[in-house]
Amino acid sequence: MAASETPKHDDVNVPQDRVQTALSRRDWLRLTIGASAGLALGSLVDVKAVRAANESLKLSNVREFTTSCNFCSCGCGMVATVRDNKLITLEGDYDHVVNEGSLCVKGMSMFPTHASPQRNQVPRYRAPGSDHWEDITWEDAVERISQKIRKTRDTTWIANEKAGDTEVPVNRTDAIAFLGGAQNTNEECYLFQKFARLLGTAYVEHQARL
Ligand code: SF4
Repeated sequence: MAASETPKHDDVNVPQDRVQTALSRRDWLRLTIGASAGLALGSLVDVKAVRAANESLKLSNVREFTTSCNFCSCGCGMVATVRDNKLITLEGDYDHVVNEGSLCVKGMSMFPTHASPQRNQVPRYRAPGSDHWEDITWEDAVERISQKIRKTRDTTWIANEKAGDTEVPVNRTDAIAFLGGAQNTNEECYLFQKFARLLGTAYVEHQARL
């Protein structure tokens, strides 16, 4: 997930009904354990066995985060469940105004894209003429990209253009384009636009033209 973690349910910006849902789940677990202890007093239940069973429940010892599907620009809401800092499920968010819990087939397949052993976790580079990719560091990737942008901009820079008989300053390059994505936030898009204009390109596009 290009994705930053969104607030967990204990945070202030989470809708109240979401908080109540999360609390009721926790309460339910507490009640279950409490009830187990009570029953054990009457020698009816093996407390250890009941606690062990609770541990294996899907929602025991988890934290939930809200996030959004990153496949298209519909912005369907999802709930990410994390145990021991590891993502264990991604499901449609029933409290989300866009999708009310439902996900299309792409959204439903988001978890496997996260868990796939074939997922790239570091930048990769294939040298000119090479037949294989090699892992490189993020610093190396940023350095290579910035050098290429600089070189492309410098060699294709258009300072002036003719408008009729007059030469007017345009200060742009036609050799660089920017492509945004559905999961970018408004703030990211703002910075994206600003950076593109700063470099002198007019070509700013978006991945989803719905
Ligand atoms: S890919 Fe499907 S689930 Fe994801 S945002 Fe688009 S419509 Fe929603």
